[in-house]
Amino acid sequence: MKPVALGDFELTAVSDGIYYLDGGAFFGVIPKVMWERKMKADGQNRVPSGLNSLVIRTGDHTVLVETGIGNKLPERMAKIYGQPAQLLENLASAGVAPEDIDIVINTHLHFDHCGWNTVRGGGSVSATFPKATYYVQEGEWRHAHENQRDGVSYFVENYDPLVESGQMKLLQGDKEIVPGISVAVFPGHTRNMQAVVVQSGGQTACYISDLIPTSAHLDLNWVMGFDLYPVETIESRKRYYARAVPEKWLTVFTHDPSIPWALVKQDENGKMTAVSF
Ligand SMILES: [Zn+2]
Repeated sequence: MKPVALGDFELTAVSDGIYYLDGGAFFGVIPKVMWERKMKADGQNRVPSGLNSLVIRTGDHTVLVETGIGNKLPERMAKIYGQPAQLLENLASAGVAPEDIDIVINTHLHFDHCGWNTVRGGGSVSATFPKATYYVQEGEWRHAHENQRDGVSYFVENYDPLVESGQMKLLQGDKEIVPGISVAVFPGHTRNMQAVVVQSGGQTACYISDLIPTSAHLDLNWVMGFDLYPVETIESRKRYYARAVPEKWLTVFTHDPSIPWALVKQDENGKMTAVSF
């Protein structure tokens, strides 16, 4: 994937590979006859899901948004989802070494979004990006310890060692991380999932994460079965589109297996469509 310029910044989409999700869970209450027109399921009713991270080079900072599944998945889960573990190779191909990254932002702490935060070695777990400060919402980190409906998706090894060492900072609400890069909370998938808004030279990109996981989920009502607060997902999407559509934001899709980003347009019938950037 070629980098694109956003004002003075450079954006590169970098993947940890493809994993597989149950198509029914991925599209929630939407009937299969409808979603299958957009995404073909395999013999086990699974659909391919991307693991798209975003590298932002600002000139002063190298920021990594999201760290994929990583390579520490328990065997029972690797069997179900796969464990492609391609992020570090793909970062290297993009000319980015782990030491180059000074900021890592996790939108939330489900296993498929923060797996490469840490690696195992010598009987302990350490930061994959040794010089980075990591950021997540404090409310998300607390929720990760509550063992609620999505408890199976949280692995403390991906974040607790970093919180304990002080390398991961816990945020309370919307915040500018460095000039031009800020986080904004959009509840729905989880209560405290945050999007990453990137602005330079009058242009805006947004890593909207699981609020709109793929270009097949642009319709307001096409909400994933995984979402803890599906009605709030719809409200958050309305709030997002109210700015992203008229201001022509580049929307980055965390789980789209073929297009990492697109502009979102609304056609004459009110339908949202993805238009290439
Ligand atoms: Zn998630």
